[in-house]
Amino acid sequence: MAVVKVDKLARSVVEGPSLMTGSIPTKDWMDTPVVFKPGNYAYTTKPEIQAYLDKQSGISLPNARNWSPEDEDWKLPENWKEIILQGLADRLDRFRSLKIFMDCCVRCGACADKCHFFLGTGDPKNMPVMRAELLRSVYRQDFTLAGKILGKMAGGREMTVGILKEWFMYAYQCTECRRCSVFCPYGIDTAEITMMLRELLHLVGIGINWCMEPVANSNRTGNHMGLTPQAFKGNIEFLCEDIENLTGVKVNPTFNRKGAEVLFITPSADVFAEPGIFTCMGYLLLFEAIGLDYTWSTYASEGGNFGLFTSNEVMKKLNGKMFAEAKRLGVRWILGGECGHMWRVVHQYMDTMNGPADFLEVPRSPITGTVFDNAQSTKMVHISEFTADLLKHGKLNLDKSRNAHVKATFHDSCNPARAMGLLEEPRCILDHVVDDWVEMPENTIRERTFCCGSGTALNTDEIMELRMRSGFPRANAVKYVHDKHGVNTLGCVCAIDRATLTTLMDYWVPGVQVCGLSELVGNALVIEGEQRQDLTEGLRTLV
Ligand code: SF4
Ligand code: SF4
Repeated sequence: MAVVKVDKLARSVVEGPSLMTGSIPTKDWMDTPVVFKPGNYAYTTKPEIQAYLDKQSGISLPNARNWSPEDEDWKLPENWKEIILQGLADRLDRFRSLKIFMDCCVRCGACADKCHFFLGTGDPKNMPVMRAELLRSVYRQDFTLAGKILGKMAGGREMTVGILKEWFMYAYQCTECRRCSVFCPYGIDTAEITMMLRELLHLVGIGINWCMEPVANSNRTGNHMGLTPQAFKGNIEFLCEDIENLTGVKVNPTFNRKGAEVLFITPSADVFAEPGIFTCMGYLLLFEAIGLDYTWSTYASEGGNFGLFTSNEVMKKLNGKMFAEAKRLGVRWILGGECGHMWRVVHQYMDTMNGPADFLEVPRSPITGTVFDNAQSTKMVHISEFTADLLKHGKLNLDKSRNAHVKATFHDSCNPARAMGLLEEPRCILDHVVDDWVEMPENTIRERTFCCGSGTALNTDEIMELRMRSGFPRANAVKYVHDKHGVNTLGCVCAIDRATLTTLMDYWVPGVQVCGLSELVGNALVIEGEQRQDLTEGLRTLV
């Protein structure tokens, strides 16, 4: 889908009708229906993908069919309302957080202007408090005494098809980034409410293809790209050939090797597409430099988990392969690559969903002896923690001048930053591998970081204008340091970010490239016996 010219969109974001520019909606929000039109919704799940998934054990994704959000009739099951209300009742029983979030919002408004979708679209229903209210109003009507007696006067709403459509619209205009929750005095996590909305919608067959096709691929081949084990291994071997051509260093990774000390799992985008492949080359060089005893798996060949964007049951099923493969291979612990949402799943859900992983050891770096106590329950360490520890102990020989072409800033990816507290380690890495880098403005980094705007399976072309709008606050902060300090590189530790931010930068801040931090580590590493060419663009240099 063609996107409007950058000047026009910039004017529209800043001057278009929104609460921020003084335009007040003329109708009550409950009386404002959603209107689907090309560009404001992502394509729905292909029936064959949904039918395939519905047949898998542990997963229920019923009502596969051809349909479009623009259709009047969404071809819902006859008893759709009963399914939704029963689904909500089940989840209120199972998830204490949902029950609390439904009850405790005081409508203080602190979250209202913190969401990048609201800032980019000006749509009042994109205020986090309103997004939650779409579900809360139904909860009030059917699950609280005041709602049952007073209905609309108590903020309740009878569940209707119109509300279901509204849920679909706004559950897929939230990237579950959790920025709003940082500012909420009650810690209400709107991301979890969005997760529940998406889960409820799936009960009646409503979902988007850009989420469900990766889920199906991950279930079938182990990774969301759908790479076969042979293709996965072949791609990594191609990268090893590139490394040898560029640096003279011969790298010999192993695959599915039983008895290795460490199992390494990274997003499959790292072995498949630019700019992730340069990050992957960085991992390969790093492990070679320190002589790590590790193996890749062609079965657990994906760190990312699109189940997080679908439902708890799908998330659990896709995550299960990590521990299962670690057990099969008999490794001691797991090292994970640069990914965002993978780490939310690993850090916050894996242990209780598929653990405890008693068969693994608490991770201990074989190079420095550091025991990663923070990973006691998951037995899984983030590559940035691992690398920062190597740097702290002086175990890497680095030449910063090899990154002389880079003037960097750092984007805190939402999940590592807000879900894991991974704030200092990436900065430590940057300090060691580049001469100079700058921070973006204070309110746009660390816990307050702005989302790329296209996470949670929204990285799809048919909603490009929406993505450019929701990514605007992030891009605006990059533009500031680009204009003021000449920044030309946006570093991050997330595979989805590497893809989405590249598109975002090409649109809003041309001249800024996106990279993983491990790429910058790989650029700077000095390895014994190397015969490095003159790499003016580091590992990206075409020779
Ligand atoms: S900040 Fe929290 S309590 Fe205040 S309106 Fe938002 S969700 Fe409700
Ligand atoms: S989680 Fe992120 S995208 Fe969703 S409402 Fe909050 S700030 Fe907006």
